[in-house]
Amino acid sequence: PLSLVWLRRDLRLHDNAALYHALKSGHHVVPVFIFDRTILDALEDRCDRRVDFLVQEVNRLRDELAKMGSAIIVRYGKPVDVWKKLIEQYSIGDVFANHDYEVYAKERDKAVGDLLAEHAIGFHTSKDQTIFERDEVLSGKKKPYTVFTPYSRKWRDKLTDFYLKSYPTEHYFTQLWKTNPLPVPTLEEMGFQPEEETFPARTVPDEVLDTYNKTRDFPALPHGTSQLSMHLRFGTISIRDLARQAKDADDKTFMNELCWRDFYFQVLDHFPHVEKNSFRREYDQIEWRNNEDEFEKWCRGETGYPIVDAGMRQLNTIGWMHNRVRMITAGFLCKHLLIDWRWGEAYFGRKLRDYDLSANNGGWQWAAGSGADASPYFRVFNPTRQAQKFDSKAAYIQHWVPDVDQPTYPQPIVEHTMARQRAIDAYKKAVAKV
Ligand code: FAD
Repeated sequence: PLSLVWLRRDLRLHDNAALYHALKSGHHVVPVFIFDRTILDALEDRCDRRVDFLVQEVNRLRDELAKMGSAIIVRYGKPVDVWKKLIEQYSIGDVFANHDYEVYAKERDKAVGDLLAEHAIGFHTSKDQTIFERDEVLSGKKKPYTVFTPYSRKWRDKLTDFYLKSYPTEHYFTQLWKTNPLPVPTLEEMGFQPEEETFPARTVPDEVLDTYNKTRDFPALPHGTSQLSMHLRFGTISIRDLARQAKDADDKTFMNELCWRDFYFQVLDHFPHVEKNSFRREYDQIEWRNNEDEFEKWCRGETGYPIVDAGMRQLNTIGWMHNRVRMITAGFLCKHLLIDWRWGEAYFGRKLRDYDLSANNGGWQWAAGSGADASPYFRVFNPTRQAQKFDSKAAYIQHWVPDVDQPTYPQPIVEHTMARQRAIDAYKKAVAKV
Protein backbone atom coordinates (compact mmCIF):
# COMPACT_ATOMS: atom_id res chain seq x y z
CA PRO A 1 0.00 0.00 0.00
CA LEU A 2 0.91 3.65 -0.38
CA SER A 3 1.20 6.33 2.27
CA LEU A 4 -0.55 9.49 1.09
CA VAL A 5 0.35 12.94 2.41
CA TRP A 6 -2.54 15.35 2.12
CA LEU A 7 -1.04 18.82 1.68
CA ARG A 8 -3.26 21.79 2.51
CA ARG A 9 -1.49 24.84 3.88
CA ASP A 10 1.97 23.27 3.89
CA LEU A 11 2.99 23.33 0.24
CA ARG A 12 6.59 22.27 0.58
CA LEU A 13 8.70 19.12 0.67
CA HIS A 14 11.32 20.59 2.98
CA ASP A 15 10.77 20.43 6.76
CA ASN A 16 7.18 19.21 6.53
CA ALA A 17 6.02 17.20 9.57
CA ALA A 18 3.33 15.14 7.83
CA LEU A 19 5.59 14.31 4.90
CA TYR A 20 8.37 13.30 7.27
CA HIS A 21 6.13 10.90 9.18
CA ALA A 22 4.81 9.45 5.92
CA LEU A 23 8.35 8.90 4.59
CA LYS A 24 9.22 7.09 7.80
CA SER A 25 6.14 4.83 7.55
CA GLY A 26 8.03 2.31 5.47
CA HIS A 27 5.64 2.53 2.48
CA HIS A 28 6.04 4.43 -0.71
CA VAL A 29 4.81 7.98 -0.39
CA VAL A 30 2.86 10.27 -2.66
CA PRO A 31 1.56 13.76 -1.83
CA VAL A 32 -2.02 14.76 -2.64
CA PHE A 33 -3.43 18.24 -3.09
CA ILE A 34 -7.14 18.99 -3.45
CA PHE A 35 -8.39 22.26 -4.90
CA ASP A 36 -11.33 22.40 -2.55
CA ARG A 37 -14.53 23.34 -4.37
CA THR A 38 -16.21 24.31 -1.12
CA ILE A 39 -13.67 27.10 -0.74
CA LEU A 40 -13.13 27.99 -4.42
CA ASP A 41 -16.83 28.17 -5.32
CA ALA A 42 -17.40 30.63 -2.48
CA LEU A 43 -14.81 33.10 -3.81
CA GLU A 44 -16.54 36.12 -5.31
CA ASP A 45 -13.82 37.18 -7.73
CA ARG A 46 -12.91 34.87 -10.60
CA CYS A 47 -9.50 36.51 -10.72
CA ASP A 48 -7.95 35.61 -7.41
CA ARG A 49 -4.26 35.91 -6.71
CA ARG A 50 -4.42 33.23 -4.02
CA VAL A 51 -5.77 30.66 -6.47
CA ASP A 52 -3.07 31.74 -8.95
CA PHE A 53 -0.46 31.28 -6.28
CA LEU A 54 -1.77 27.83 -5.36
CA VAL A 55 -1.70 26.67 -8.97
CA GLN A 56 1.80 28.02 -9.39
CA GLU A 57 3.04 26.37 -6.19
CA VAL A 58 1.39 23.03 -6.90
CA ASN A 59 3.08 23.02 -10.32
CA ARG A 60 6.37 23.81 -8.64
CA LEU A 61 5.90 20.77 -6.37
CA ARG A 62 5.01 18.66 -9.40
CA ASP A 63 8.28 19.72 -11.08
CA GLU A 64 10.36 19.13 -7.94
CA LEU A 65 8.88 15.66 -7.57
CA ALA A 66 9.27 14.89 -11.29
CA LYS A 67 13.00 15.52 -10.97
CA MET A 68 13.06 12.72 -8.40
CA GLY A 69 10.99 10.44 -10.63
CA SER A 70 7.91 10.96 -8.51
CA ALA A 71 4.56 12.78 -8.61
CA ILE A 72 1.81 14.63 -6.77
CA ILE A 73 -1.85 13.65 -7.14
CA VAL A 74 -3.89 16.82 -7.70
CA ARG A 75 -7.69 16.89 -7.76
CA TYR A 76 -10.44 19.48 -7.94
CA GLY A 77 -13.56 18.71 -5.90
CA LYS A 78 -15.01 18.41 -2.41
CA PRO A 79 -12.53 16.66 -0.12
CA VAL A 80 -14.78 13.79 1.01
CA ASP A 81 -15.80 13.05 -2.60
CA VAL A 82 -12.20 13.17 -3.75
CA TRP A 83 -11.10 10.84 -0.99
CA LYS A 84 -13.85 8.35 -1.90
CA LYS A 85 -12.40 8.19 -5.41
CA LEU A 86 -8.80 7.98 -4.20
CA ILE A 87 -9.73 5.03 -1.97
CA GLU A 88 -11.19 3.24 -5.01
CA GLN A 89 -8.24 4.05 -7.23
CA TYR A 90 -5.25 3.39 -5.00
CA SER A 91 -4.27 0.89 -2.39
CA ILE A 92 -3.83 3.23 0.57
CA GLY A 93 -2.33 2.13 3.87
CA ASP A 94 -2.20 5.42 5.73
CA VAL A 95 -2.88 9.11 5.21
CA PHE A 96 -0.79 11.83 6.83
CA ALA A 97 -1.67 15.53 7.20
CA ASN A 98 -0.84 18.57 9.29
CA HIS A 99 -3.17 20.22 11.79
CA ASP A 100 -5.46 23.01 10.74
CA TYR A 101 -7.28 25.08 13.37
CA GLU A 102 -10.19 26.64 11.48
CA VAL A 103 -13.70 25.42 12.20
CA TYR A 104 -14.34 24.39 8.59
CA ALA A 105 -11.00 22.60 8.41
CA LYS A 106 -11.58 20.70 11.63
CA GLU A 107 -14.98 19.51 10.38
CA ARG A 108 -13.48 18.57 7.01
CA ASP A 109 -10.72 16.57 8.67
CA LYS A 110 -13.19 14.82 10.93
CA ALA A 111 -15.34 13.80 7.94
CA VAL A 112 -12.34 12.55 5.95
CA GLY A 113 -10.89 10.81 9.03
CA ASP A 114 -14.22 8.97 9.54
CA LEU A 115 -14.32 7.93 5.89
CA LEU A 116 -10.77 6.63 6.02
CA ALA A 117 -11.51 4.75 9.24
CA GLU A 118 -14.45 2.98 7.54
CA HIS A 119 -11.89 1.60 5.08
CA ALA A 120 -9.40 0.73 7.83
CA ILE A 121 -7.02 3.43 6.63
CA GLY A 122 -5.11 5.28 9.35
CA PHE A 123 -5.27 9.10 9.45
CA HIS A 124 -2.28 10.61 11.25
CA THR A 125 -2.00 14.33 11.87
CA SER A 126 0.84 16.50 13.18
CA LYS A 127 1.64 20.01 14.27
CA ASP A 128 3.43 21.86 11.51
CA GLN A 129 2.31 25.43 10.85
CA THR A 130 2.78 26.75 14.37
CA ILE A 131 5.59 26.58 16.86
CA PHE A 132 3.20 25.82 19.72
CA GLU A 133 -0.41 24.75 19.39
CA ARG A 134 -3.46 23.49 21.24
CA ASP A 135 -2.56 22.87 24.89
CA GLU A 136 1.18 23.41 24.65
CA VAL A 137 1.07 26.92 26.11
CA LEU A 138 -1.45 27.12 28.96
CA SER A 139 -1.75 29.30 32.02
CA GLY A 140 -0.84 28.10 35.52
CA LYS A 141 -4.50 27.05 35.88
CA LYS A 142 -4.20 24.95 32.70
CA LYS A 143 -6.46 27.33 30.79
CA PRO A 144 -5.81 28.85 27.38
CA TYR A 145 -4.50 32.38 27.58
CA THR A 146 -6.75 35.23 26.52
CA VAL A 147 -4.15 37.97 26.99
CA PHE A 148 -1.05 38.15 24.84
CA THR A 149 1.70 39.29 27.24
CA PRO A 150 1.57 36.34 29.69
CA TYR A 151 1.05 33.99 26.73
CA SER A 152 4.14 35.34 25.02
CA ARG A 153 6.20 35.03 28.21
CA LYS A 154 5.28 31.36 28.55
CA TRP A 155 5.82 30.85 24.82
CA ARG A 156 9.32 32.30 24.97
CA ASP A 157 10.24 30.34 28.12
CA LYS A 158 9.24 27.12 26.43
CA LEU A 159 11.02 27.85 23.18
CA THR A 160 14.11 25.64 23.19
CA ASP A 161 16.02 24.66 20.05
CA PHE A 162 14.18 21.36 20.09
CA TYR A 163 10.99 23.05 18.84
CA LEU A 164 12.80 24.73 15.98
CA LYS A 165 14.46 21.62 14.57
CA SER A 166 13.70 20.87 10.93
CA TYR A 167 12.17 17.56 9.93
CA PRO A 168 14.91 16.11 7.67
CA THR A 169 12.58 14.92 4.92
CA GLU A 170 15.38 15.07 2.33
CA HIS A 171 17.08 12.04 3.92
CA TYR A 172 14.12 9.85 3.04
CA PHE A 173 13.16 10.97 -0.45
CA THR A 174 14.08 7.50 -1.75
CA GLN A 175 10.74 6.44 -0.25
CA LEU A 176 8.84 8.62 -2.74
CA TRP A 177 6.62 6.61 -5.07
CA LYS A 178 8.25 6.17 -8.49
CA THR A 179 5.79 7.20 -11.16
CA ASN A 180 5.34 9.59 -14.06
CA PRO A 181 4.08 13.13 -13.36
CA LEU A 182 0.29 13.38 -13.08
CA PRO A 183 -1.87 16.21 -14.48
CA VAL A 184 -2.62 19.40 -12.54
CA PRO A 185 -5.95 21.18 -13.21
CA THR A 186 -5.53 24.59 -14.79
CA LEU A 187 -7.02 27.81 -13.50
CA GLU A 188 -9.39 27.89 -16.44
CA GLU A 189 -10.61 24.35 -15.74
CA MET A 190 -11.54 25.53 -12.27
CA GLY A 191 -13.34 28.62 -13.58
CA PHE A 192 -10.65 31.20 -12.81
CA GLN A 193 -8.77 33.76 -14.87
CA PRO A 194 -5.06 34.31 -14.34
CA GLU A 195 -3.77 37.52 -12.78
CA GLU A 196 -0.48 38.72 -14.18
CA GLU A 197 1.39 38.82 -10.94
CA THR A 198 4.72 38.13 -9.36
CA PHE A 199 4.66 37.10 -5.75
CA PRO A 200 7.02 38.17 -2.94
CA ALA A 201 10.31 36.34 -2.49
CA ARG A 202 10.37 33.25 -0.35
CA THR A 203 13.26 34.37 1.82
CA VAL A 204 14.00 37.27 4.11
CA PRO A 205 17.46 38.84 4.01
CA ASP A 206 19.20 39.06 7.38
CA GLU A 207 19.38 42.87 6.93
CA VAL A 208 15.59 43.07 7.22
CA LEU A 209 15.69 41.25 10.53
CA ASP A 210 18.60 43.34 11.76
CA THR A 211 16.61 46.56 11.41
CA TYR A 212 13.05 45.24 11.82
CA ASN A 213 12.39 46.82 15.21
CA LYS A 214 13.20 50.26 13.81
CA THR A 215 11.55 49.92 10.41
CA ARG A 216 8.45 47.80 10.94
CA ASP A 217 6.02 50.64 11.60
CA PHE A 218 6.84 52.75 8.56
CA PRO A 219 4.74 51.72 5.58
CA ALA A 220 6.74 53.74 3.03
CA LEU A 221 9.86 51.59 3.54
CA PRO A 222 10.06 48.87 0.89
CA HIS A 223 11.77 46.36 3.21
CA GLY A 224 10.50 47.53 6.58
CA THR A 225 8.85 44.15 7.14
CA SER A 226 9.51 40.67 5.77
CA GLN A 227 6.56 40.37 3.32
CA LEU A 228 6.53 36.68 4.07
CA SER A 229 2.90 36.46 5.18
CA MET A 230 1.66 34.80 2.01
CA HIS A 231 4.36 32.14 2.23
CA LEU A 232 3.55 31.52 5.87
CA ARG A 233 -0.13 31.31 4.98
CA PHE A 234 0.36 28.58 2.39
CA GLY A 235 3.31 26.91 4.06
CA THR A 236 5.65 27.57 1.16
CA ILE A 237 8.23 28.36 3.82
CA SER A 238 8.73 26.62 7.13
CA ILE A 239 7.85 28.47 10.32
CA ARG A 240 10.66 26.62 12.11
CA ASP A 241 13.28 27.78 9.60
CA LEU A 242 12.06 31.35 9.89
CA ALA A 243 11.92 31.34 13.67
CA ARG A 244 15.44 29.89 13.78
CA GLN A 245 16.66 32.65 11.50
CA ALA A 246 15.06 35.26 13.79
CA LYS A 247 16.53 33.58 16.85
CA ASP A 248 20.01 33.49 15.32
CA ALA A 249 19.70 37.17 14.40
CA ASP A 250 18.53 37.77 17.98
CA ASP A 251 15.54 39.68 16.62
CA LYS A 252 13.13 39.68 19.54
CA THR A 253 10.66 42.01 17.88
CA PHE A 254 10.26 39.76 14.85
CA MET A 255 10.01 36.72 17.09
CA ASN A 256 7.24 38.48 18.96
CA GLU A 257 5.25 38.79 15.72
CA LEU A 258 5.59 35.06 15.13
CA CYS A 259 4.29 34.64 18.65
CA TRP A 260 1.21 36.78 17.81
CA ARG A 261 0.64 34.42 14.90
CA ASP A 262 0.63 31.40 17.21
CA PHE A 263 -1.51 33.31 19.72
CA TYR A 264 -4.30 33.93 17.20
CA PHE A 265 -4.20 30.31 16.04
CA GLN A 266 -4.70 29.14 19.59
CA VAL A 267 -7.48 31.69 20.20
CA LEU A 268 -9.35 30.34 17.15
CA ASP A 269 -8.70 26.75 18.17
CA HIS A 270 -9.89 27.19 21.77
CA PHE A 271 -12.61 29.78 21.17
CA PRO A 272 -14.14 28.91 17.79
CA HIS A 273 -17.05 31.30 18.41
CA VAL A 274 -14.72 34.17 17.41
CA GLU A 275 -15.20 33.18 13.80
CA LYS A 276 -18.72 34.64 13.86
CA ASN A 277 -19.00 36.53 17.14
CA SER A 278 -17.06 38.89 19.31
CA PHE A 279 -14.60 37.17 21.62
CA ARG A 280 -16.10 39.33 24.38
CA ARG A 281 -19.80 38.75 23.93
CA GLU A 282 -20.88 42.14 25.24
CA TYR A 283 -19.45 43.71 22.09
CA ASP A 284 -22.10 41.95 20.05
CA GLN A 285 -24.52 44.45 21.60
CA ILE A 286 -22.98 47.43 19.79
CA GLU A 287 -25.51 49.32 17.71
CA TRP A 288 -23.54 49.63 14.49
CA ARG A 289 -24.53 52.32 12.03
CA ASN A 290 -23.64 50.09 9.05
CA ASN A 291 -24.04 52.81 6.42
CA GLU A 292 -23.54 51.06 3.08
CA ASP A 293 -22.50 54.16 1.20
CA GLU A 294 -19.78 54.91 3.74
CA PHE A 295 -18.68 51.28 3.62
CA GLU A 296 -18.30 51.49 -0.16
CA LYS A 297 -16.19 54.63 0.19
CA TRP A 298 -13.99 52.93 2.74
CA CYS A 299 -13.56 49.91 0.44
CA ARG A 300 -12.60 52.10 -2.51
CA GLY A 301 -10.24 54.30 -0.48
CA GLU A 302 -12.32 57.45 -0.77
CA THR A 303 -12.83 58.47 2.85
CA GLY A 304 -10.90 61.73 2.55
CA TYR A 305 -8.44 60.50 5.19
CA PRO A 306 -5.25 60.02 3.12
CA ILE A 307 -3.65 57.32 5.26
CA VAL A 308 -6.87 55.28 5.30
CA ASP A 309 -7.32 55.70 1.56
CA ALA A 310 -3.68 54.82 0.87
CA GLY A 311 -4.06 51.58 2.81
CA MET A 312 -7.27 50.59 1.07
CA ARG A 313 -5.85 51.39 -2.36
CA GLN A 314 -2.72 49.39 -1.57
CA LEU A 315 -4.96 46.47 -0.58
CA ASN A 316 -7.11 46.79 -3.70
CA THR A 317 -4.07 47.03 -5.97
CA ILE A 318 -1.61 44.45 -4.64
CA GLY A 319 -3.66 42.39 -2.18
CA TRP A 320 -1.43 43.30 0.74
CA MET A 321 -1.44 46.13 3.26
CA HIS A 322 1.18 47.16 5.78
CA ASN A 323 0.36 46.10 9.34
CA ARG A 324 0.33 49.61 10.80
CA VAL A 325 -2.11 50.67 8.11
CA ARG A 326 -4.26 47.56 8.62
CA MET A 327 -4.65 48.74 12.21
CA ILE A 328 -5.53 52.27 11.12
CA THR A 329 -8.02 51.32 8.38
CA ALA A 330 -9.68 48.66 10.54
CA GLY A 331 -9.98 51.01 13.51
CA PHE A 332 -11.40 53.71 11.26
CA LEU A 333 -14.16 51.42 9.96
CA CYS A 334 -15.21 50.17 13.39
CA LYS A 335 -14.84 53.38 15.35
CA HIS A 336 -15.13 56.38 13.03
CA LEU A 337 -17.79 54.86 10.80
CA LEU A 338 -19.30 52.50 13.40
CA ILE A 339 -19.51 49.70 10.87
CA ASP A 340 -19.58 46.11 12.10
CA TRP A 341 -16.03 44.71 12.15
CA ARG A 342 -17.32 41.59 10.35
CA TRP A 343 -17.94 43.66 7.21
CA GLY A 344 -14.35 44.82 7.19
CA GLU A 345 -13.07 41.39 8.08
CA ALA A 346 -14.93 39.90 5.11
CA TYR A 347 -13.62 42.59 2.76
CA PHE A 348 -10.03 41.96 3.85
CA GLY A 349 -10.78 38.24 3.44
CA ARG A 350 -11.67 38.80 -0.19
CA LYS A 351 -8.66 40.92 -0.98
CA LEU A 352 -5.67 39.89 1.14
CA ARG A 353 -3.22 37.59 -0.57
CA ASP A 354 -2.10 36.49 2.90
CA TYR A 355 -5.66 36.07 4.18
CA ASP A 356 -5.62 33.85 7.19
CA LEU A 357 -8.79 33.50 9.22
CA SER A 358 -7.01 33.44 12.58
CA ALA A 359 -4.78 36.52 12.10
CA ASN A 360 -7.41 38.47 10.21
CA ASN A 361 -10.09 37.78 12.77
CA GLY A 362 -7.63 38.52 15.57
CA GLY A 363 -6.56 41.77 13.93
CA TRP A 364 -10.14 42.90 13.34
CA GLN A 365 -11.32 42.04 16.82
CA TRP A 366 -8.26 43.82 18.19
CA ALA A 367 -9.17 46.94 16.22
CA ALA A 368 -12.84 46.70 17.15
CA GLY A 369 -11.91 46.29 20.80
CA SER A 370 -13.93 43.07 21.00
CA GLY A 371 -11.19 40.45 20.92
CA ALA A 372 -8.71 38.56 23.06
CA ASP A 373 -6.26 41.18 24.29
CA ALA A 374 -7.92 43.89 22.24
CA SER A 375 -7.06 47.54 22.57
CA PRO A 376 -9.50 49.22 25.01
CA TYR A 377 -12.56 50.63 23.28
CA PHE A 378 -11.88 54.22 24.29
CA ARG A 379 -8.58 54.16 22.39
CA VAL A 380 -9.53 55.61 19.04
CA PHE A 381 -6.68 56.15 16.60
CA ASN A 382 -6.52 59.62 15.15
CA PRO A 383 -5.74 58.85 11.48
CA THR A 384 -4.18 62.24 10.86
CA ARG A 385 -1.79 61.87 13.81
CA GLN A 386 -0.99 58.30 12.83
CA ALA A 387 -0.01 59.54 9.37
CA GLN A 388 2.16 62.31 10.83
CA LYS A 389 3.92 59.82 13.05
CA PHE A 390 4.41 56.88 10.70
CA ASP A 391 4.43 58.55 7.28
CA SER A 392 5.83 61.95 8.19
CA LYS A 393 6.99 62.77 4.66
CA ALA A 394 3.74 61.43 3.21
CA ALA A 395 5.73 59.16 0.90
CA TYR A 396 3.37 56.24 1.39
CA ILE A 397 0.33 58.46 0.92
CA GLN A 398 1.74 60.08 -2.22
CA HIS A 399 2.48 56.67 -3.68
CA TRP A 400 -1.01 55.24 -3.24
CA VAL A 401 -3.07 58.44 -3.35
CA PRO A 402 -1.37 60.57 -6.02
CA ASP A 403 -4.54 62.70 -6.22
CA VAL A 404 -4.31 63.67 -2.56
CA ASP A 405 -3.64 67.33 -3.31
CA GLN A 406 -6.12 67.59 -6.20
CA PRO A 407 -9.43 69.41 -5.82
CA THR A 408 -11.14 66.15 -6.82
CA TYR A 409 -9.83 64.37 -3.71
CA PRO A 410 -12.82 63.88 -1.35
CA GLN A 411 -13.42 65.85 1.82
CA PRO A 412 -13.23 63.77 5.03
CA ILE A 413 -16.27 61.50 5.23
CA VAL A 414 -16.60 62.20 8.95
CA GLU A 415 -15.13 64.66 11.42
CA HIS A 416 -12.68 63.01 13.83
CA THR A 417 -13.65 64.53 17.21
CA MET A 418 -17.37 63.96 16.70
CA ALA A 419 -16.79 60.41 15.37
CA ARG A 420 -14.51 59.55 18.27
CA GLN A 421 -17.12 60.59 20.81
CA ARG A 422 -19.90 58.82 18.90
CA ALA A 423 -17.88 55.59 18.96
CA ILE A 424 -17.10 55.86 22.66
CA ASP A 425 -20.79 56.48 23.44
CA ALA A 426 -21.94 53.50 21.35
CA TYR A 427 -19.39 51.20 22.98
CA LYS A 428 -20.19 52.45 26.46
CA LYS A 429 -23.87 51.76 25.88
CA ALA A 430 -23.16 48.21 24.67
CA VAL A 431 -20.95 47.40 27.63
CA ALA A 432 -23.51 48.88 30.05
CA LYS A 433 -26.23 46.55 28.72
CA VAL A 434 -24.45 43.50 30.10
P1 FAD B 1 6.13 40.94 9.25
O1 FAD B 1 6.00 42.18 10.04
O2 FAD B 1 7.39 40.73 8.51
O3 FAD B 1 5.86 39.74 10.25
C1 FAD B 1 6.32 38.41 10.00
C2 FAD B 1 5.19 37.44 10.09
O4 FAD B 1 4.64 37.41 11.40
C3 FAD B 1 4.02 37.78 9.18
O5 FAD B 1 4.25 37.34 7.87
C4 FAD B 1 2.87 37.07 9.87
O6 FAD B 1 2.81 35.72 9.54
C5 FAD B 1 3.23 37.19 11.34
N1 FAD B 1 2.56 38.34 11.93
C6 FAD B 1 3.01 39.62 11.98
N2 FAD B 1 2.15 40.40 12.65
C7 FAD B 1 1.13 39.60 13.01
C8 FAD B 1 -0.07 39.82 13.73
N3 FAD B 1 -0.41 41.01 14.24
N4 FAD B 1 -0.91 38.78 13.90
C9 FAD B 1 -0.61 37.56 13.42
N5 FAD B 1 0.52 37.29 12.75
C10 FAD B 1 1.37 38.29 12.54
N6 FAD B 1 -1.83 38.58 8.90
C11 FAD B 1 -2.00 37.53 8.08
O7 FAD B 1 -1.06 36.74 7.89
N7 FAD B 1 -3.19 37.30 7.46
C12 FAD B 1 -4.26 38.13 7.62
O8 FAD B 1 -5.32 37.88 7.05
C13 FAD B 1 -4.10 39.27 8.46
N8 FAD B 1 -5.11 40.15 8.63
C14 FAD B 1 -4.93 41.24 9.46
C15 FAD B 1 -6.00 42.13 9.66
C16 FAD B 1 -5.86 43.22 10.51
C17 FAD B 1 -7.03 44.16 10.72
C18 FAD B 1 -4.64 43.42 11.17
C19 FAD B 1 -4.47 44.60 12.10
C20 FAD B 1 -3.58 42.55 10.99
C21 FAD B 1 -3.70 41.44 10.14
N9 FAD B 1 -2.64 40.53 9.91
C22 FAD B 1 -2.82 39.46 9.11
C23 FAD B 1 -1.37 40.67 10.66
C24 FAD B 1 -0.27 41.49 9.95
O9 FAD B 1 -0.79 42.71 9.52
C25 FAD B 1 0.34 40.75 8.76
O10 FAD B 1 0.74 39.46 9.14
C26 FAD B 1 1.56 41.48 8.22
O11 FAD B 1 1.22 42.80 7.83
C27 FAD B 1 2.14 40.73 7.04
O12 FAD B 1 3.24 41.39 6.50
P2 FAD B 1 4.71 40.83 6.69
O13 FAD B 1 4.78 39.41 6.26
O14 FAD B 1 5.65 41.79 6.05
O15 FAD B 1 4.84 40.87 8.26
